[in-house]
Amino acid sequence: MITEDSAPPGVVVVGRLARGTAGEARRVVHVFGVEATAATSELVRTKCGEALSRTDVEWLTPGVGMPCEPCLGLTTGEPARSPRRELGV
Ligand SMILES: [Zn+2]
Repeated sequence: MITEDSAPPGVVVVGRLARGTAGEARRVVHVFGVEATAATSELVRTKCGEALSRTDVEWLTPGVGMPCEPCLGLTTGEPARSPRRELGV
């Protein structure tokens, strides 16, 4: 279920890949810019640099799930490279 219109502006938006779209290890909770929920592109960009297909993202309430450390600024390594398909955007 896509709930892209459910987040009010000005709040931190978090989400992860929905169950079944990726292995559990990749289903960390990413931080998104608030523009991610307003954009109409098929890809939403995480703070750590991953581009996820909007339809694969399960939007969450902050504090739920296992956080993506790069998104939180806890690590400063290379941004995770997504093997996921780019949709040509
Ligand atoms: Zn992330």
